[in-house]
Amino acid sequence: MTPSLSTKYIFFTGGVLSSVGKGLTAAALGRVLKEHGYSVAAQKLDPYINVDPGTMSPYQHGEVYVLDDGSETDLDLGHYERFIDTNLNRVCNITTGQVYADVIAKERRGDYLGGTIQVIPHITNEIKRRIGLVAKTLKAEIVIVEVGGTVGDIESQPFLEALRQMRSDVGRENSVYVHVTWLPYIGATGELKTKPTQHSVRDLRSLGITPDIIIARSDYPVEEELCQKIALFSDVERRAVIPMVTARSIYEVPLLVDESGMGTYVLERLGLSSRQKPDWQAWRKLVSTVHAEKPHVKVALVGKYVELHDAYMSVREALYHAALHLGLEVEIDWIHAVEVEKGKHKERLQAADGILVPGGFGERGIEGKVQAIRYAREHKVPYLGLCLGMQLMTIEFGRHILGTEDVNSTEFDRNTEHPVIDLMPDQRDIADMGGTMRLGLYPCVLQEGSLAHAAYGKPMVQERHRHRFEFNNAYREQFEQAGMRFSGLSPDNRLVEIAELHDHPFMLGTQFHPEFLSRPNRPHPLFVAFLKATYRRNRQQETETER
Ligand code: GLN
Repeated sequence: MTPSLSTKYIFFTGGVLSSVGKGLTAAALGRVLKEHGYSVAAQKLDPYINVDPGTMSPYQHGEVYVLDDGSETDLDLGHYERFIDTNLNRVCNITTGQVYADVIAKERRGDYLGGTIQVIPHITNEIKRRIGLVAKTLKAEIVIVEVGGTVGDIESQPFLEALRQMRSDVGRENSVYVHVTWLPYIGATGELKTKPTQHSVRDLRSLGITPDIIIARSDYPVEEELCQKIALFSDVERRAVIPMVTARSIYEVPLLVDESGMGTYVLERLGLSSRQKPDWQAWRKLVSTVHAEKPHVKVALVGKYVELHDAYMSVREALYHAALHLGLEVEIDWIHAVEVEKGKHKERLQAADGILVPGGFGERGIEGKVQAIRYAREHKVPYLGLCLGMQLMTIEFGRHILGTEDVNSTEFDRNTEHPVIDLMPDQRDIADMGGTMRLGLYPCVLQEGSLAHAAYGKPMVQERHRHRFEFNNAYREQFEQAGMRFSGLSPDNRLVEIAELHDHPFMLGTQFHPEFLSRPNRPHPLFVAFLKATYRRNRQQETETER
């Protein structure tokens, strides 16, 4: 049950406030340690009771991030994968729901016959077992474990207790506790305050965890005196107090973490030494491109949760990665589909160099998205549709070629005359909502001569999925004859993975989610191709107005 002794653990807890960039800092530290020559994996412990975030509204939780193995996880896993540049698996996101479901199943099976099942030791042991699985399944030498929420939350207590026990299980030389706090700024006196940090460290210590490192997040530079003060009352060395001022761009964070000395300090605490000199050349180039003057393109993202950009975290990141690669500045105009439906925002669609409709579920805003897609098709505006965005692209096209509005997905209208998008056959008998979609990595064969094939430059790709519905093959021939090309198919030809239009500069939709495989230094080919097309359009428009 005890995790293997040689694995090194870095435990991240949060104090004062959530949303101060704990996940990002953990991910950045992961990258730094990788740069020093170690294999690193990261795990998020989410104290909520849902088994996974897959059934939660993006308003509650932001994006649901999908891994290769099809697990639906917290968006912090996206930060970990993008920054550490490693593929994680299902054990990398634990929730209270999973832990209890497992323990209760064992109890029913009779595994604990005669025993009283308790939070300590049964729940905490199960948490520790799952922490131990990360190093085993991903062959990581260093595992970063982040606890969601902030110290003091009732629901995170079993997780913190498990982390406390881990120190004696794995040994002091194999564990480091990092506490990320926030220093509020008082405008009236112009000063940063450390009191909330003092309180949260005290709370953490009352649970038996003494932090080894304090990361003091702040929007303003933190003076030496404050760092000394934090060191004094938290019982950590001065050099273990690491001020982390809000960066201009998230891509700077790994560089800042390395410059702060946190990586070498962590290695020292773990009895390790750097195996190689970090090579930040590519990252530095990325960061300098972020701040450089660049030609500007505008992408209208028409979605349902546009007030909450976190709901489309990976889409936004994938756009930024592709733009940086091309030396462009991409501005995302977040447009609410429901408002488009009400006839608003025509001028915003007109002003866009490209239109993107991301994934989604449920009926709200669907017609607004279809209208935006129609605009893209008719006005030859580059279009990228992701999952639902691909399904709606075929629906819009169907309405146009079949000459009737009664074309739909059975997700939105069970009795539509033309169910161009329909439930996948193996989804028909599924009653449970959680974890039952077509999830994770599946192959897709690309048709030569297509936009997709040109973008990827290879005949077959693997992409991550999360859907229940698919293009209805009864309409394939008719659509092909009318100018739609099914340029990506499952190897058995049964499932449409990519649709594109012939008579259009760039109109392409994917049944999968390419955004989950985009990395800062390895932008996704489809996002690159889409942004190239937006730039071409932008140039054309400019020349036309100049004339
Ligand atoms: N709601 C659609 C489906 O289930 C699209 C899903 C998505 O966009 N992720 O197929």
